[in-house]
Amino acid sequence: MLFDPKPKERKEDLFDREEELAELISSITKYPITLLLGIRRTGKSSIIKVSLNEIDAIGIYIDVRKAMKGGRVSEERLKLQLLGNIRRLRINIPGIKLEPTPLDMTDIFDLLNSYGRKRRKIIVLAFDEAQYFRFYGSRGGEDFLLAVAYSYDNHEWIRFLFSGSEVGLLHDFLGFDDSKAPLFGRIYNEITLEPFPRDLSIEFLREGFREVNLNVPQEHIEVAVDELDGVPGWLVEYGYHYVHTRDHREALERTLQNALSLIRSELSELERRSERYVAILKAISLGINRWSKIKEYVEAKHGSITNARFSALLKNLEKMSWIRAELKDGRKVYRIVDPVVERVI
Ligand code: ADP
Ligand code: MG
Repeated sequence: MLFDPKPKERKEDLFDREEELAELISSITKYPITLLLGIRRTGKSSIIKVSLNEIDAIGIYIDVRKAMKGGRVSEERLKLQLLGNIRRLRINIPGIKLEPTPLDMTDIFDLLNSYGRKRRKIIVLAFDEAQYFRFYGSRGGEDFLLAVAYSYDNHEWIRFLFSGSEVGLLHDFLGFDDSKAPLFGRIYNEITLEPFPRDLSIEFLREGFREVNLNVPQEHIEVAVDELDGVPGWLVEYGYHYVHTRDHREALERTLQNALSLIRSELSELERRSERYVAILKAISLGINRWSKIKEYVEAKHGSITNARFSALLKNLEKMSWIRAELKDGRKVYRIVDPVVERVI
């Protein structure tokens, strides 16, 4: 069902995305490391899950965020998730026990590679929400990256997929361009999942309503697409609420409210005192888009702040893909990446 709010897992539940799916599968097959990027709720988790089901390989899906405990990625929970998925696939790898394991990551990768070699099957390790790896271990996830680098250099049957919406954070973490980082200079391929264009968004909603035999005025669909743009996750939510309330306004209102609370909770995850982040986004959404003007706005609301600190806040928002810096008439201006964020903040 298109309006199912969970990530899709089967190809027949995925609307469109044929090309992206083929591109992702070919990338995973060809490159040792693939990065899948895209703003929140564009369907990254869905397309990963579907690709792992479709690909002629053994696909193991790991949600790094799910391994978080007390603000850190717990190595134990990560390994349990990995081993749990191995069990679910009913593959029996000698040497891998399914209880809490003394094996470290490199051992697990070694065993997976041997298994792949024996069966002549590629093993895909897909790490979703991979930007959370920076909370792994005591050195910002470096131990994990050392294991990945080791596998890259030694394991011809293993492929890595890293996905997340916070592009800058993910790049910083993986460190392909950082000469001191474990993965420096390694080859990878990057794919960005874009929101649907307008006509496809309209078709998506039509198709979703058709599935549940609901006759919805074209006008409602168009207004929803104008408001929510082509981000599939927001469209699904609107459709879901519409089906349950049979009320266009109510459905739109609920969707925007939920978007707002998601945004706020993500911002407060970044920092407990997140009002300044909210104020920055608010300023930009009002068209205040230059560094000094945004700073004035934020200071008027929350008191003075040093230039360095303010720059750091902007940089964080940029790395998390909330905002993007652009040149306009030779001047640096900021804009909000996701139009839904711009609307609700
Ligand atoms: P992301 O991982 O990028 O945040 P998800 O895969 O969780 O996005 O998708 C968000 C929501 O949108 C989910 O409800 C999912 O089912 C839905 N969705 C995303 N892409 C599609 C698609 N192509 N067809 C149908 N539903 C989709
Ligand atoms: Mg996701």
